[in-house]
Amino acid sequence: MQIQPINPNDGKALDPITSTPTERIGEFVAKAAEAGKAWAELAYGDKREIFRRIAADFEARCESIAKLMHAEMGKPLSQAKSELLHTTANISQVIDTMEKALQPDLLDFEGGRTTVHYVPLGVAAVITPWNFPFAMPLSLLLPALLAGNTVVFKPSEITTYTGLALAEIMMQHLPADVLQVVVGDGVQGRAMVTSDVDLIAFVGSRAVGKEIMQQASRRTCRIILELGGKDPMIVGKDADLDKAAQFAVVGSLRNSGQVCCAVERIYVEKEACQPFLEKVTEKVQEVSVGDEVENRLCIGPMASKKQLEHVLKQIEAAVGSGATLHAGGKQISRDGYFIEPTVLSGLTPEMAIMREETFGPVVCIQTVDSVDEGIELANNTRYGLAASIWMGNQAEAEKQALRLQAGLVGVNRSFGGAPGTPWAGAKESGFGHTGGVSGMRSFLQPRSITRTT
Ligand code: NAD
Repeated sequence: MQIQPINPNDGKALDPITSTPTERIGEFVAKAAEAGKAWAELAYGDKREIFRRIAADFEARCESIAKLMHAEMGKPLSQAKSELLHTTANISQVIDTMEKALQPDLLDFEGGRTTVHYVPLGVAAVITPWNFPFAMPLSLLLPALLAGNTVVFKPSEITTYTGLALAEIMMQHLPADVLQVVVGDGVQGRAMVTSDVDLIAFVGSRAVGKEIMQQASRRTCRIILELGGKDPMIVGKDADLDKAAQFAVVGSLRNSGQVCCAVERIYVEKEACQPFLEKVTEKVQEVSVGDEVENRLCIGPMASKKQLEHVLKQIEAAVGSGATLHAGGKQISRDGYFIEPTVLSGLTPEMAIMREETFGPVVCIQTVDSVDEGIELANNTRYGLAASIWMGNQAEAEKQALRLQAGLVGVNRSFGGAPGTPWAGAKESGFGHTGGVSGMRSFLQPRSITRTT
């Protein structure tokens, strides 16, 4: 069987790649388990050195890996480079945080002491999506490996070349079989999930996450699931509308909207709706599509034909049900899978575009009578990844933020937190979490040793 990647910039086929036969996955897992014995014992200082060398090689290969990302999923070249450089610059911080996570906890009681050690879980299956084809794999591979686990890794079938390139660099520095790569799609992913691994670390859609959870339950296998979102933004009548509109546009359109924590629903208090809409529409007209222009947000194509069709269908259905189109709304008539940056208002909660993940370059605005109504609608979803609230009164906004059912909430700013903030989806946006010392410990097994003093 072969994987057939398509370049979304022009719709042309890239070289096909042979996928891994599913019957070989058990063999990969067995080799990983064997390699894990020495890897778990290797001093943390030696692991740190290995990852320093990996980071240096990533930087040296930045240009060529960015070109793969651009060709496979359409990310504009400079954004692909900054994804790689930003992720690489963060590696030393991940190493430091894992070092803290590996420190034992000491718990004293009358007459005794418990020492909680954190030890590797064993073999991890790491399965990742295509939207950040460098950052997402690294977000799981780094903690999984630094924790002392060994890994069988499958990148998305859409971004296999990028996944292979980053894994090859890592494998050059890691001992044999500590990291192995599987090429394939859901067939290979399913075979990994049902194999004898000790941890499944997954970033991807809610539907696949649910299936993984079911499969993992057969063996009570540990899982970490980072899933989709339908992130809301609430704009009060007294908000700084310039700042809010800027965030709405970048948050909705960045990476062509193909971001798990993209702004997907905006609830604006009625008094602010018209000026907010005008500001948003004006900013959206300035977005460049396909061609990178200095100081302008640039978006690439949808990563696949399937994604293109999904987004267009949601837009058409919304307009067909009475939504108003202020910008865009159509596929661009050129080769590839480009959609015009789109602004919609007059949306209602029943419309698919306000309920299901869109993952496209669309700003979706619904008018509400009050911030209270906005919060109620924002919470009326199975998702709960990120959210933001924009109000003139900061103290009031902070109070209201606590009512938003999401793992990450921004108050008059983006939801991105300080280093060490857990990346933790609420509700059906995830299970378990990454980030910070507590997230690092998701990749470890606590082992308590108790003795009498
Ligand atoms: P997807 O769920 O279709 O695929 C993700 C990975 O799972 C791919 O490698 C795929 O081959 C594999 N897979 C497919 N079926 C499988 C199965 N039955 N068992 C095991 N593996 C299987 O998701 P996608 O389209 O690649 O990515 C987009 C999704 O990822 C969106 O929903 C987005 O919100 C989500 N995402 C979440 C985060 C986060 O941090 N929460 C970050 C990025 C993307």
